Amino acid sequence: MDNRRVRVRFAPSPTGALHIGGVRTALYNYLFARQHDGDMLLRIEDTDSTRFVPGAEAYIIEALDWLGIKIDEGICKEAPDGKGDHGPYRQSERRDIYWKYVKQLLDEHKAYVAFDTPEQLEAKRKEIPNFQYDATTRGMMDNSLTCVHAKERVENGEPFVVRFLVDPDEDIVVHDLIRGDVTINSNILDDKVLYKSSDRLPTYHLANIVDDHLMGITHVIRGEEWLPSAPLHVLLYRAFGWEDTMPQFAHLPLLLKPDGNGKLSKRDGDRLGFPVFPLEFHNEKDGSVSSGYRESGYYPEAVINFLALLGWHVSGDQEIFSMDELIANFSLERVSKSGAKFDYEKGKWFNHQYLQMRSNEQLAEEFRPILEAKLGEKAVAKIGNEKIAKIVGLVKERVSFVSELWEQCNFLFVAPEEYDEKSLKKRWKEDSPKHMKELLAVLKAQKDWSYEALDATVLPWIEAQGYGLGIVMNAFRICLVGAARGPHIWDITGILGKDETIRRVEVALKKLA
Ligand code: GLU
Repeated sequence: MDNRRVRVRFAPSPTGALHIGGVRTALYNYLFARQHDGDMLLRIEDTDSTRFVPGAEAYIIEALDWLGIKIDEGICKEAPDGKGDHGPYRQSERRDIYWKYVKQLLDEHKAYVAFDTPEQLEAKRKEIPNFQYDATTRGMMDNSLTCVHAKERVENGEPFVVRFLVDPDEDIVVHDLIRGDVTINSNILDDKVLYKSSDRLPTYHLANIVDDHLMGITHVIRGEEWLPSAPLHVLLYRAFGWEDTMPQFAHLPLLLKPDGNGKLSKRDGDRLGFPVFPLEFHNEKDGSVSSGYRESGYYPEAVINFLALLGWHVSGDQEIFSMDELIANFSLERVSKSGAKFDYEKGKWFNHQYLQMRSNEQLAEEFRPILEAKLGEKAVAKIGNEKIAKIVGLVKERVSFVSELWEQCNFLFVAPEEYDEKSLKKRWKEDSPKHMKELLAVLKAQKDWSYEALDATVLPWIEAQGYGLGIVMNAFRICLVGAARGPHIWDITGILGKDETIRRVEVALKKLA
């Protein structure tokens, strides 16, 4: 087509928290822009004031910022009112721009004024099955095509809308970068409302086309739910005479419910027990609270990686991609046409992978607030970062979230007060008290407390006594941990130190004898 600089936009409407599907749309736009050294714009499409939700715009900006999706132009964290030469970037602030274009269509008889009230339209819908305002019906409606006094009525302040005049019987071809050519006959399109005098605002369709044109957008990458509107958009570009610079379209597949039955909806998340929003959202309008990935302990890199692969894939089996790798590898040709099942377990798996990649020191830092809440700030300061990092390193493989660490390593900070019934039943044998008493003597005599030294002393001792290795070691573990779980025993004794190890065995002997 043209060799303009690539410019894409994410154009959300501030109608609530940004759904995870919307985040994926933003991500694909971002990857595409970066890959082509182009610009990523953020435009707020707020022409429908009835659906406006306070806080939604700030939420969108915060969510993209958290995820590392950087905005080059428009509304963004550094410039909440927009930056760039094509502003304003909030449609409600562009009122004066749109009328000129509506007027152009009216003057060129490509649109007309209609006065039908909602009641009249409702009556028509009842009267005519599958009624739509189009070439077959517009002649019997109340509009400037049927009423000679239309001009005066407008001048007298009568409320009106402007409708797009869609010619019948035409095959409209939308070239989609993911789906190829999609052909739709104009007979199924209605004469869409482009403008409403009641709020002096255009509807989505007009504002979207005018803005994409004025903002120099080269590629429109958006959700599949907009595919049915694309033919109308093609007609609008043509009506304005902007066909040469019409953006290329790419409609992304839907995100489906985990069972594949239908679109993943805003309500699915809390119904199925996982977030479908990037951040927690408190909806002031209806009082609802929705959970978010950030508050659930996800790393933004994991969410990005997870979302990138929902509907796009590379050849080969690489699954872990940094943002830079995604930028290098992304292509619209490899976006699938069919819906992508939302596999929440896979999302957790990604977080697990990203958690493993963090250094123990980093994880210790992230774990610290939880530890402080459990043990108190002073106690944690006394333990020291180095030891916390060591402990975290021993158990991180077992967790997907920092919030799960405590459950895995609490016994390394506090002695068990109770002993797990199930573990006792299975692992605490009749001879265990005797074994532990003898083991105590061995441990007390041990000078070198290193992993290797303990291993080299205790194991041969057990063997020499003719005891079962598993039997002794499992009982020992119960004394130290309170249950049959945890990292390697000599890692545990290493953290606890000699005195505490001995103390725990003595306490257990008292309690379990
Ligand atoms: N405002 C629309 C939305 O919220 C944008 C659709 C488009 O990208 O054209 O999905």
